[in-house]
This record gives sequence, structure tokens and C-alpha cells, in this order.
Amino acid sequence: MNFSDLALAEPIARALNEKGYAAPSSIQAAAIPPALAGHDVLGLAQTGTGKTAAFALPMLHRLAADPKHRIKMNTRALVLAPTRELASQIAASFQAYGKFMRLSVAVVFGGVPIGRQERALAPGVDVLVATPGRLLDLVMKGACDLGRVEMLVLDECDQMLDLGFIHDLKRITGLLPKQRQSMLFSATLAPAIEQLAERYLKSPVKVAVQPAATTVEKVVQSVVHVSQPEKLALLAHLLDQPEVASSIVFTRTKHGADRVVRQLAAHGLVAEAIHGNRSQPQRTRALDGFRAGTLKILVATDIAARGLDIPAVSHVFNFELPNVPEQYVHRIGRTARAGRAGVAIALCAPDERPFLKDIEKTIRMALTPAPLPANFRDLVGKTAKLIKSNPVAAEPPREERDFARSRNGGRPGRDPRAVVHAEGRPARAPAGREGGREERRDFGREGQPRRDAGQGRPAGGRPPGRPGGGFAGRREGQRRSPAGR
Ligand code: AMP
Repeated sequence: MNFSDLALAEPIARALNEKGYAAPSSIQAAAIPPALAGHDVLGLAQTGTGKTAAFALPMLHRLAADPKHRIKMNTRALVLAPTRELASQIAASFQAYGKFMRLSVAVVFGGVPIGRQERALAPGVDVLVATPGRLLDLVMKGACDLGRVEMLVLDECDQMLDLGFIHDLKRITGLLPKQRQSMLFSATLAPAIEQLAERYLKSPVKVAVQPAATTVEKVVQSVVHVSQPEKLALLAHLLDQPEVASSIVFTRTKHGADRVVRQLAAHGLVAEAIHGNRSQPQRTRALDGFRAGTLKILVATDIAARGLDIPAVSHVFNFELPNVPEQYVHRIGRTARAGRAGVAIALCAPDERPFLKDIEKTIRMALTPAPLPANFRDLVGKTAKLIKSNPVAAEPPREERDFARSRNGGRPGRDPRAVVHAEGRPARAPAGREGGREERRDFGREGQPRRDAGQGRPAGGRPPGRPGGGFAGRREGQRRSPAGR
């Protein structure tokens, strides 16, 4: 199938041509025709399959084919996404595919000042991409009216449920016109997703691609058995290999990610972390640097990385194995994109062997065991020395971090110590507070804060139903980003 077979409006076809897309991906070939015909769609697909265009192109086609005046504070198309990065990415895709249309796209998400978003919505837009919590804030403030939404997309629905957005989704869908086209995309079809689909979709056309299997097959995967304390020495060695062009290192926790960044810095390797404790400007800067190729190593937690489209990753390192085997598939899906080859290396400590077994069962293959480097003992000794001689790599004292930040203008990069300081753990959160207030707030910045902890991800044992104030009050507590967006 070619894009011309889809008979998309001319400006869209031109934008696709300019982007160099030769043919629709399989999810696009399956989803676009029924969506163009006005059917609801239930799509099973992960990021990397081209699913954004699968819903964006038919939506844009409808906007082009049936132009209408914008109405103040209203939108014709609404896309809900779990994280701010994914929302920004989707909005950028709409802008790219709608480049030759007179299109107004807005994106709203939490953790940044709301005023600019209110102003963006005031004249009305064609497409609004939003994380659910911030959208409700805007609705409550009277800055956004959902009464004229013609098309709705729930993207990465499984992650939205994992993040506990179910109540927000219910509230939002309750505000939408009954007469609308709805599309739901999810990487998995868990029973909760099926229920949601039953509730919000009318006789949907089901489309699915199986990226997990194909992705898994395309990635050269291996596992190195190594003790936990010696992992860093191995990681630094592996990252130093010339074939490692760009890589994502996965850790299970936010603090773990920060620790890896600091310890790599002690080895002279510049890395940046993305996770919920990082401010929006920090995350944006890290991702922009990574996409531009100026930053080669990104250290990420699963939640932060999910759904991000980062095209050129040569290597994925599982510094800590995920305890949910499907997460492994998501992680390694960061490499071997769009026909490229990819390498995924798992660092498995003895206590992680059960996780490895589960992963191998899920992907129905065994990871190839790779030996430790010949001079590994020396490398371990070298790492121990480097970390010992650089106390920051172990744990930066607060005043040092603050000093480095002021000395370095808050930016990373002039000297490795400054990187360590400036990118070190935020000056807060005594050890053991992961389940406390900070975690709730931080988690909120990852997507939105959750009131319904019982719904999904445990998020550090939050008590269920804790509202943390009303809508406005709840997010008032969040750190505001000076940069906003
Ligand atoms: P997505 O799964 O929507 O995040 O898309 C993954 C990547 O594939 C993005 O970088 C898209 O720009 C790209 N892409 C989407 N559709 C096509 C296509 N038909 N041909 C080539 N690249 C595409």
C-alpha cells in the first residue's frame, strides 16, 4: 500500500512526501482506512510502529476536508497522553503532518505554569494534546471547553491506567459530546483496557501490530552476569567501546539513575538522567541534547522513557533488570528502530536471575551470555579508586551541589565535577522518603499527580484516595518551571 492509496488531503500528502515517508507502516495501513471512514478504532501498538501518524493523519484529513472557524477555548480534536514528553512529541507530529494546513495545535501538561497554556487555548485550537490532570485544571479554570470535541484519542492507554489516570479519564470523557469519533491506542490489551474500550468506543475496528516480537528479533541481545557492586565498572567499560554511538541505560529507580550518572561522570563519561525528579527544563535539555547527538548517554527510568521516540539509539543497557518482564521489551524497543540494527546488553546480578528467567520466558528466547572483559578485575579496581577519590560520585553533600550549581550557572558541562554536582540528586528527600510526599509530587511531574493510588502503579505506597487538595491546590504544590512551555 502507498500513501496515495489512502487519498489523504493534498497538504497532508505533501507533508508526508517532504518527510520522506515512502509507505504507510502496518499500523497505519490497518488503522487509517477505518478511521477515515469515521469508525472508532482500538489500536494495539507501541511507540516506534508509527502509531502517532495512524491517528493523526485521519484526524488531520477530517480537519482539512471539513474546515470550521475556531471557537474560543474549544478544540475539535483532543489527544490525551500520559506524559508531557509524549504529549509534546504528539503535538510536534501533528504540526509536522499539518505543516501545509492552517492548523492550530496546542499542547498542555502539568509541572509548568498554566498561564501560557490558558492563553494558547483562549482563541480556540484545532488540535489539543494534553495530559489528563492539567487538562482538567484548565477546564476547572474555565480556560478550556470540551463541548465541541469531534475526535478523541486516548494514547498509551495502558500507561495512563498504570499512572492512575482512570478517574481523570472518566471525568474528561463525561465532558465530551456523545457524538464523536474515538480512538484508543495501547501497547497491551489488559482486561482494564478492554473495559475502557467497551465504555468509550462504539463498535471499534480493532487493529494490531506485533512490534514486540519483531523488535525483539531485530535486537542483538546478551546478558553479562556480574555482581551488583561491580556493575558500574562493567557499564563504564561497555559505554567506552567505539561502537556505542548513543545509548540508553535503564535503572529501576530515580536515585539509581542519578547515582549512575554521577559515577559515570567520575569515569569522565557525560550522561544525563531523565526521570520524575528532574525539572522540565532539565529533561527537555537532556532529550534535545540526546536527539541532536551532543549527549551520547541517557540514563532513564522506565516511566520516563516510555513512549519517547528517540530515533538513533545504538545500544540499550539494562543496568538493572526490570521486575516486570514486559518492561524489558519496552526498553529494548528503544533500539533497532526503523530497520536499524540494535544491541541490548543486560547486566544481571545474582539476585536478578529470577527476573532474567521471566524475561526469557516472555520473549521466548534465552539471552546470549557474554563473558566479562578479560581485564575486569583491573577495571573494578580502577572504578573503586575513581569513586573513592571523587566522593561526589558516591553521594554529593548538599552544600557542594549548591556551590557547583551557582559556580556553573546551573548548567552542566564545564567540568565533570560540575556535571556531577549540577545533575546530582535534587537537594531534598532524605533517604527512605520514596513513599512519602516528595514521591507523590515528583511522580506528578512525570505525568500528573495521582489521587487514586490504588488504581495502578503503587508509586511508593501512597494511601489511596489522598487528594492533596482540589485540582488547583493539588498542583499548586508542584515546582514551577521558569522556562515553562
Ligand atoms: P511513532 O510510533 O508514532 O512514535 O513513530 C515512530 C517513528 O516512525 C517516528 O519518528 C515517525 O516519524 C516515524 N514514522 C511514522 N510513520 C512512518 C512511515 N510511514 N514511514 C517512515 N517513518 C515513519
